[in-house]
Amino acid sequence: MSRLATHRIRIGSFDCMIVKDGTPSTLLLHEVMGEPPAEMTGDSIEMLGGLLVVDTPDGRVLVDAGNGPHRGPRAYEAEATLAAEEIDAASVDTVLITHGDFDHIGGLIDADERLVYPKARYVLHRDLWDFWHDAAARNEYPSQAVALWDRMLPPLVSAIESSGTIVESEREVLRGIRAIPALGHRVGHTVYRIESEGAPLLHIGDAAVRPVFLEQTDSLNVRHDTEPETARAARRRIAERAAADGALVIGTHFLLPGIGRLTKIAEDRYAWSPIGGNDKGDERTEHD
Ligand SMILES: [Zn+2]
Repeated sequence: MSRLATHRIRIGSFDCMIVKDGTPSTLLLHEVMGEPPAEMTGDSIEMLGGLLVVDTPDGRVLVDAGNGPHRGPRAYEAEATLAAEEIDAASVDTVLITHGDFDHIGGLIDADERLVYPKARYVLHRDLWDFWHDAAARNEYPSQAVALWDRMLPPLVSAIESSGTIVESEREVLRGIRAIPALGHRVGHTVYRIESEGAPLLHIGDAAVRPVFLEQTDSLNVRHDTEPETARAARRRIAERAAADGALVIGTHFLLPGIGRLTKIAEDRYAWSPIGGNDKGDERTEHD
């Protein structure tokens, strides 16, 4: 039995579908932030992640890939959702990688260490690419993570060597889609601006795990980030740009529908307006 959760949106002529995927783990806010403000003490964050499917005239694009079979149990399974939506893995042309955490790249490799998306071109940041080639740096992580990298990286790295785009600074990677480095959360963290017919969407990955971190870039910071001050500076730039752009904003771990807009209300202060749907999106349960 799989629980499926999706939310569809249209950006100009692009059809987009948010697909939920993730372990049912919950982080207490003080684990993420250190010292949350009084009104947020006791709050927790359900760490459901997922991926975004974008159908463009130039092909089918994924932003990230979910956990895949490597971590569990999972509250939602992206691959079951993609199958139910009749999205064939071979139809995916491009995968835009925000960063290398397993809840974002696990779904690129199946349980037999084969590529899930055999025809995809991958886009990722130079720092992540370099990290994947640095065994000494990876070996400083817990053995469970190292074992997973040892299984996943060989097929992935060889696929990227033959069909990859390595990004070092902001640039267009596909017609209407720009990669924008937003470092600090994890090595090489990158966000993506997707625009069609003048309608922009900013996929911010894990630059903020909840919209409130974009609303209060002056006062809230996340110790959970690898480089907290760099990550905060990236959130500042993202919020400023999204508000100036009037862009829709998606974050991987936002609760469904997980999409909204930011309005600037003061220096480093924004108001989040969610767009459409209820907090479960279009959820259904599918029996095998
Ligand atoms: Zn994540």
